[in-house]
Amino acid sequence: MIDGGKPSRLAIAGAGVAGAYAYRLLRDRGYPADLYDVKKKTRCGISPCAWGTSGEFIDLVKVAGLDPSQYILERVDQVVIDGIRFKIEMITIDKPRFVRDLLQGAGVSYGPVDLEAYSRVIDATGVSRALLSPIRGDVFMPCFQSRIETRRELEARIILGEIGYAWCFPLGENHYHIGCGSLVKDPHDVLRSLDLMGGQSSKGDTTICSCRGRIRLTGPHLSLPFVSDRSADGIWGVGEAIGCVGPMAGDGIVPSMKTVRILLKEWDDPEAYTRSILEEFHWMEGERTLVDKLRNMEQPTIANARVLLENSKRMGMRIGLKEVTSLMNNLRVKSPPSSTSWRDSLPLRRGQTVWIASCKGSLSTSFLLETG
Ligand SMILES: Cc1cc2nc3c(=O)[nH]c(=O)nc-3n(C[C@H](O)[C@H](O)[C@H](O)COP(=O)(O)OP(=O)(O)OC[C@H]3O[C@@H](n4cnc5c(N)ncnc54)[C@H](O)[C@@H]3O)c2cc1C
Repeated sequence: MIDGGKPSRLAIAGAGVAGAYAYRLLRDRGYPADLYDVKKKTRCGISPCAWGTSGEFIDLVKVAGLDPSQYILERVDQVVIDGIRFKIEMITIDKPRFVRDLLQGAGVSYGPVDLEAYSRVIDATGVSRALLSPIRGDVFMPCFQSRIETRRELEARIILGEIGYAWCFPLGENHYHIGCGSLVKDPHDVLRSLDLMGGQSSKGDTTICSCRGRIRLTGPHLSLPFVSDRSADGIWGVGEAIGCVGPMAGDGIVPSMKTVRILLKEWDDPEAYTRSILEEFHWMEGERTLVDKLRNMEQPTIANARVLLENSKRMGMRIGLKEVTSLMNNLRVKSPPSSTSWRDSLPLRRGQTVWIASCKGSLSTSFLLETG
């Protein structure tokens, strides 16, 4: 436990949700850390994210001494996936405000961390994984998202298809995140071809901002090492930097916060830290297996369906095996993408089911920019 450990000079690289949460919990235990980040181009000031999460968020916020109700924008109890209505227990949160409150005005330096100046450095740099060694065969899903204000009342919706999925998440007060992730097409193009808002855009619709980002689908079991010895007391990864994001749904908020709690518990034991992370996020392994199946255009099995069935319970979803199987089958790539032009392959038709797909390995550099 950190409370029994020796004091050390600490730096946290990355002031996203994992870095800010680590900063806060460490500070509360009497371990102040210096924060480093890079300038972001998003209007909201944080990494691109749809701000949807599960009820587990609430207890994790309380651990930081903050009031969860301050951050809940909407409680979503139903979601329409490819025209089928499902019960769900999801919340959307004001993630920028949450990160801001965790930091409570702490100064952030912009520039590289001088590893020599610190005994321990926490790599909380998300998809960048700026300090730990690069991951071989890292898999990223490029995404595009807009924040829309509209007078129309929209439902929480997900449209799946062969190559990714699109979402509409309510943020309260007529605001919505409308986005798409895709491995084989420009997600912005896919989004334009879909009818997520249930009809033609109307005069009252305003696009507040748009951004591009990417989600690491690699999974923690393929994102080792979590700790390296590049500084005296090591560089310790947390959050998306060590692959703790659900490879199918791309949910990384709660997993990132959980990695910080595990870090504090196993503060002086890199092996125990690695073991605990792999145990806690074991469920991501089955999702990654399914991602690979879909990427390789293989037929998913009942065992894959059971993984989704089990994992969907995290969001309070109650889906039958038959429904899961049919949704999962719709995720499959129906025809191989052209090796010369992946952008033009696999037309995404409205209402088709999309998730993750093919184009082995070649896309990680396709959409690295975040734009405001
Ligand atoms: C479009 C999109 C939608 C998503 N929607 C959801 C969702 O609805 N729900 C959900 O749970 N998850 C979602 N995710 C995933 C989720 O956003 C991340 O998994 C989560 O934020 C990871 O937290 P993190 O702190 O590890 O990384 P981040 O939140 O990405 O923070 C990393 C920080 O490191 C900084 N940084 C980067 N490079 C450096 C460097 N060299 N030096 C210093 N700092 C650096 C960044 O500027 C950033 O502040 C989404 C992701 C995307 C791209």
